[in-house]
Amino acid sequence: MNPWPTGEPPEARLRVALAADRPLLHDHPRLRALLESSAVADPGEFFLLFLHHCMATGAALDQGAAGEDVADLVSGRWAGAALLAELGHANSNSRTHTEAVFDPATREFVLSTPVPGAAKYPATFGPAGFATLAVVSARLLTGGAEHGTALFLVPVRDERGPCPGVSIEPCPPTALLPLDYTTVRFDGVRVPYRRWLRDGASITPDGEFHDPLADAGARGRRTMSMGRFGWGAITVGLAAVARAAVSLALERAGRRRTLDRLAGEIPAIDHLNQQRLLFGALASALAATTLARRETGRYWSFGAPPGVHRELGLTKVAVTALADRAVNRARSASGTAGFFSEHRLIGYQGLTLAFQSAGGDNRLIGLDAAWTMAAGQDYTPPADAPGADEWVTLFRHRERLLHEELTAGLDGSFDTWNARSELALRFVSAHSARRTAEVVSGELPSDLYELHCLEEVEAHAGWFLARGLLTAEQVLGLPERINAICRRLHRDPTTLEHLLAGSGS
Ligand SMILES: Cc1cc2nc3c(=O)[nH]c(=O)nc-3n(C[C@H](O)[C@H](O)[C@H](O)COP(=O)(O)OP(=O)(O)OC[C@H]3O[C@@H](n4cnc5c(N)ncnc54)[C@H](O)[C@@H]3O)c2cc1C
Repeated sequence: MNPWPTGEPPEARLRVALAADRPLLHDHPRLRALLESSAVADPGEFFLLFLHHCMATGAALDQGAAGEDVADLVSGRWAGAALLAELGHANSNSRTHTEAVFDPATREFVLSTPVPGAAKYPATFGPAGFATLAVVSARLLTGGAEHGTALFLVPVRDERGPCPGVSIEPCPPTALLPLDYTTVRFDGVRVPYRRWLRDGASITPDGEFHDPLADAGARGRRTMSMGRFGWGAITVGLAAVARAAVSLALERAGRRRTLDRLAGEIPAIDHLNQQRLLFGALASALAATTLARRETGRYWSFGAPPGVHRELGLTKVAVTALADRAVNRARSASGTAGFFSEHRLIGYQGLTLAFQSAGGDNRLIGLDAAWTMAAGQDYTPPADAPGADEWVTLFRHRERLLHEELTAGLDGSFDTWNARSELALRFVSAHSARRTAEVVSGELPSDLYELHCLEEVEAHAGWFLARGLLTAEQVLGLPERINAICRRLHRDPTTLEHLLAGSGS
């Protein structure tokens, strides 16, 4: 059953999709179905549901919101939003400038934007008329002492407009993923104690701050761990649009007539270049789907163990890259239909592009992961695995060698690390390629698995050759191996349709 309410005007449809009888994070199949169908039907509304059901409600549930606020989010009385990123600094989540100063007289927090660069930007909202309760990140201060970045639930606008002390300035319209993006400033907004998502921390009546976590750094990491609820939505949503894009493009390539100087009038898909684009896109879309669904349970679990956060972030990065590639190739194979909005593909691309930055910048996630892996935190480079197939063996080798290269001579200085930042990204991408191959082997049909791996190897063929892991003959033979798979897949198009149907496109 498609849970996306069709046949209604967009705003009425959004109201229905925001409301539930219980938190959808407690009902994974239902949440996943809603997110997948909304992403395919309307990427903009998917973005609002990702903010509401996962970012705002997830943080509220996970970090100790009052029952009535959770109930008001779940019922859809409030639409949820997340105000984390700030205008003035790159990587702003690592040092928030918005302030929440505790007032012991009233036991409230006074929320303010102390400098122009502390404005929350971009803050994404639903259409005017939707009352919005935002999860806002701010530096928590008591009596001049700082206690790290904490989260607060703040009503930022009601049905009539901004709440007192909140200024909401619309951003100029944007072409891709058009939504109501804004810049938000706070001027002495009073936030009651119960709307501090205190997650076990407390402030005594005489103003003494207690936190079960070790220090402000640990608190900041815990605060930002809310991102995993969003990553669960992003991964299932992007995998869904990747499948939908491939499905649309394959269907079009099957019926679009081309006039060939040698073969006469034949469907576009009979051309090998179309097959390579679209079957490769199919392999990427199905790999993204497998990765996303495998991790949904961990993304949407409460109190997830700290060690898994890095892998969950890297899965968000990997799925974004796979989905982006799939949609891009589907567009590239579709001519003008890849450009005009009525054919939907460009809207899907808007979503895959948005999430390279939204939900945490993919490069930063990669660099952070590389840093901790280079330091050996919960990581050892993969050894040869007995019984692993040729692809996994190659990818393990690549990861190991890049790790060696990255860590040789690291001395803790900025200059040394900075000189290796591109290498660090290659290393995490090799790590993700290895993990992806291990996860999808046995899940994808063998031809599609092999196609996925061959394309990964082909992208780094020069490196494999230089390292002596492939011979010149093997490198020169890669294109024909890919072509042979495409010809086999083309002979049996029904298999592809079944695959897409079976994975819920
Ligand atoms: C469509 C869309 C909607 C969004 N909606 C919201 C929303 O509703 N709420 C919200 O809070 N945020 C939202 N965001 C913001 C999003 O979360 C941020 O874009 C993201 O956190 C990246 O921040 P930034 O744009 O400031 O990039 P920057 O932090 O400025 O990064 C720019 C570049 O610099 C690099 N860089 C930065 N720091 C370092 C470093 N230390 N080392 C190496 N490289 C570095 C990054 O890798 C990146 O490539 C949205 C973004 C988009 C695109």
